Amino acid sequence: MSSKTKNLSVLGSTGSIGVNALNVVRSYPDLFKIRSLSAHSQADLLIEQALEFQPAAVAIGDATQSAKVKAALPGIEILKGRSGLLELASRDDVDVMLNGLVGSAGMEPSICSIKAGVDIALSNKESLVMAGDLINRLLSENKVNLYPVDSEHSAIWQCLVGEDMAHVKRLVVTGSGGPFRTTPKEAFKDITVAQALKHPNWAMGRKITIDSATMMNKGLEVIEAFWLFHLPVEKIDIVIHPQSIIHSMVEMVDGSVKAQLGIPDMKIPIQYALSYPRHLKQDWEQLDLTKIGTLTFEAPDLDKFKCIQLAFDALQEGGSMPVVLNVANEEAVYQFLDGEIPFTAIPELITKAMESHEFLEHPDLDDILALEKWTQAFIKGVKRS
Ligand code: MG
Repeated sequence: MSSKTKNLSVLGSTGSIGVNALNVVRSYPDLFKIRSLSAHSQADLLIEQALEFQPAAVAIGDATQSAKVKAALPGIEILKGRSGLLELASRDDVDVMLNGLVGSAGMEPSICSIKAGVDIALSNKESLVMAGDLINRLLSENKVNLYPVDSEHSAIWQCLVGEDMAHVKRLVVTGSGGPFRTTPKEAFKDITVAQALKHPNWAMGRKITIDSATMMNKGLEVIEAFWLFHLPVEKIDIVIHPQSIIHSMVEMVDGSVKAQLGIPDMKIPIQYALSYPRHLKQDWEQLDLTKIGTLTFEAPDLDKFKCIQLAFDALQEGGSMPVVLNVANEEAVYQFLDGEIPFTAIPELITKAMESHEFLEHPDLDDILALEKWTQAFIKGVKRS
């Protein structure tokens, strides 16, 4: 078996995905070498990571901290600000770029990397939600591979190994249902930030944790699956599975169903995206089904979790709709986290933005970036009125 070292760029290295990715790299130093890292504002952790992994270059998003990073890392190239991040993402000196950036800010770096001919391990689902059509075209033009990191898509990908897509009947994206699965709809208006940040199974960043509480995360994942696996939306279903042990399933035309199981921990899908097509041995916690005992399933409640239906609507309508859905959601989530709007206002604001924007059938990159700005301003404006 070949043990050629893969050179990696980890964007968003101080976030939850980035930190887990570096744990994988640390355990297989012969297989992976870090060439570049980027962080938004956690300069101290970025410095610590760079001292350990000795990349050639790092990017710090918050330009005011670049002098501090430079002083701490002699001999390492320091890039700064948004332009520094995009420059780093455009380099072709790595084999794989892991995109662990949060939100719509992660979309353009994905495109830069594909244009540079670099394979992507994609955790940033917003890239595909906002620019799935464009990204698919660029992937084939540049002969670039995209490896999913999201646990559901990693599960589907693993189930599809060796299969012909013509034999697939449907994809089943599983979701835990989040912290409010059993909360009555009437109580949703009083949900606090602290309650919404308590996810029952997964430890994740703040934005995606709120997306899991509204279940917009599952909606975004259906759109992500649509662009990754090229099946019509009618063939992608959501099933609620509160134990988060089955990470998703693929049903074949003969009724055979394949599922991928594991402990709910992002380490596994992150490592697989980096080590594909190999599975690398790890001594971390293993799945013990006899301890778990029961796996249960139920249909999602689309009346209670309005964000799921909004995501299906956006995917059906296509064009610019998913861009506006995603950006409006992001802005609304940050307003909720800042205590400015109630939990129930999140889907209301998204609906308003989707209805009010000027629809585009085939948005290009400039259109998408302009729509992002428009939607951010729109949601901020709605708040003031
Ligand atoms: Mg997921």
